[in-house]
Order: sequence, then C-alpha cells, then structure tokens
Amino acid sequence: MAKRLAAGGQDIIDMGVGEPDFDTPKHIVEAGCSSIRKGETRYAPTGGIPELRRAIADKLVRENSLNVTADDVIVTPGAKMAVFAAIQALISEGDECLLIGPSWVSYGPCVAFAGGRVAWGGVDSNFMPQNIEESINSKTRLIIVNSPSNPTGSVFDRKVLEEIRDLAVDHNIFVISDEIYEKIIYDREHISIGSMPGMEERTVTINGFSKVYAMTGWRLGYLTGPKETMKWVIRLLSHSVSQATTFVQSAGVAAIQGPQGEVASMVKEFRTRRNMLVAGLKELGIPCNVPGGAFYLFPDVSALGGGDVFTDKLLKDALIAATPGSAFGPGGADYVRLSYAISQSRIGQALERIENILE
Ligand code: PMP
Repeated sequence: MAKRLAAGGQDIIDMGVGEPDFDTPKHIVEAGCSSIRKGETRYAPTGGIPELRRAIADKLVRENSLNVTADDVIVTPGAKMAVFAAIQALISEGDECLLIGPSWVSYGPCVAFAGGRVAWGGVDSNFMPQNIEESINSKTRLIIVNSPSNPTGSVFDRKVLEEIRDLAVDHNIFVISDEIYEKIIYDREHISIGSMPGMEERTVTINGFSKVYAMTGWRLGYLTGPKETMKWVIRLLSHSVSQATTFVQSAGVAAIQGPQGEVASMVKEFRTRRNMLVAGLKELGIPCNVPGGAFYLFPDVSALGGGDVFTDKLLKDALIAATPGSAFGPGGADYVRLSYAISQSRIGQALERIENILE
C-alpha cells in the first residue's frame, strides 16, 4: 500500500526499511570492480574463495573468540541463505525450534520448510528471555539467538546468554546465533554464545556484510559451526545456489581487511537518530524501551489500538510506512517496528506527523 501511495505522488516516510541508507564504502566497491576487471568471473569453491574464508576465520577468532580455521567457514549468498541452510541441516520433520520473543520474519518459514514447528519463548518488558525453559520439551532441537535483535534492538548480556547456554547443554539443544547486527551496537558488548564453554559443538554462528558494510544488494554472508552440520550445509549449497558470487567475495575481503572508519561513522549516526526518535516518542507519550543495537525501535502502541491498527493509521493518516509487530510473531501484536535507517530530518518530520495524528 505504501508503494502504491508513493507511486501516486504521496510523500511517504519509509520507516519499514531493513537496510542502512548509506552507500557501500568506496574501497569495497573498488575491490569488487577490480575483481571483475581481473577476470574473476568464474565458478569458485562452494564454501567460498580461500582468501575470504581465511579473513572471516581470523575475524571470528579475533573479535568473537571462536575456535575456528578457514576450513570451518562457509560463505553464502547473503546471511539469509546461511540461516536457511543451517535450519535445513538441523531441523527434521516434527522437531521444534524455539524463538525468543518477537523474532525476525524468516526464521519461522525456514523451520516450516524443514518440516519443523516454532515454539515461542517468553520475554520481559525489555525483550530479555523470561521463563523460556517452559517452552522447551523433548522435541526441542534448536534455539535461535539474534542479538542485537531485529525487530526489538535488544542486546543479550553475558548472564542472559549463560542461561541460554545452560538450557542448551542440559537439554542437548543446538543454537543458531544470528549476529548480523553485531557491530551496530551502542554502549554494549557483543558476545558470541558460540565462544562459551560447552557451546562449540552445538552452535552455528551466522553473520554477513549487508548491514555493517551497507552491502544488502551484494548478497554476502557466512556461517560456521559443528563439522557434521557444515557438511549438510555444503551439500545443500552445492546442489542449489553453488556459491556466493565470485567477485563479490573479493569485495568481502576488502570489507573485512580494509579501513573500518565508515562503519564507525554510520553507527555514530544511527545512535544519534535512535536517541532522537526515542526522545520524540517519549514526549508524545508512546512507551518505548531504548534498544542497545540494530536500527529499529519497537514501541508499545497497545494504548493506540495495537500494532496492526496503529500501523494502518500511520500509513493512511500520517503517510508513514512501518511494520506491524505481529509480523514478528504473536508476542509482537502490541508493537510497531520503526526503522531509523532514514535521515534525521525525515525522523523529525515523522515525529511531527505522529504528533498530528495523536491530536
Ligand atoms: N538476519 C536478520 C536478523 C536480518 O534482519 C537479516 C536481514 N533483514 C538477515 C539475517 C539476512 O541478511 P542478508 O541475507 O541480507 O545477509
């Protein structure tokens, strides 16, 4: 509906966006172009080009304290393919996968495609896990951790991750840790659950280039995990997409090994916008937790008719496109997801428009 209104000439403020509004840094673009010019346009190994697998493994050891080598890393066309392949490798007919509170839209369909079922774990008002053991049973095979989270922006601290670790170890459950928003984080520490004692043999860690390097259209992601799981992931890739695009992988090497200044300035800008939007909503009396990461706010609009009604109202009356919280599971119904991957001036306009419809 938002697209139709925009095509009809309406000035829609798009707060539904799931990608940074920044350009891919120039040195990464150059590396991709130069790779094409050098003729790196042929098939590459299914798991990825050796230089990129090495660069990723070094990063995972250095920054995430994971115990991996290049052989343990598989490169995929986007983190989404890594999520899909890992879930197909881990979930069989009748298995259950636990999602903790409002969760990214694609996990559920990937579980369903594998013949599994989603169980929802509870969260408190800060979207931290609450009594999730109540949703675990003998069929639970997998827990998905996504910190920083899409859609809530919440960041799990060490204590929370240790509780999840204990459950996984006690009940012999695998964990997928989707860390794609790892570096878009504010005053918090990102911890990889796969680095915790007892987790190496049961954790698949997934990450990608889309968000942190503003590379959504390049389609580049990766995963690492237990050898048996990775064996099935390689088979799945080999008989479906084959590999991530060869010259895109060279751009990925430049992203990891090149200067990180643009990432830092993007995160600084996101922090300013987050503060602006949180403060603005607070002034309007809309309750909202202060997310520690990603570029989304997940305010509680239960007093304004609930997520579906308010999202509809935002679009029709304020010309603001947003995502209703119900898209992220049953726990999201009271909320709306607002992306702040838009300029500060657009955020200012959005706040004015929201104020007008509240009046
Ligand atoms: N995981 C999460 C939580 C995401 O928000 C996204 C992108 N919306 C992805 C994975 C997939 O990212 P990509 O395929 O672009 O690497």
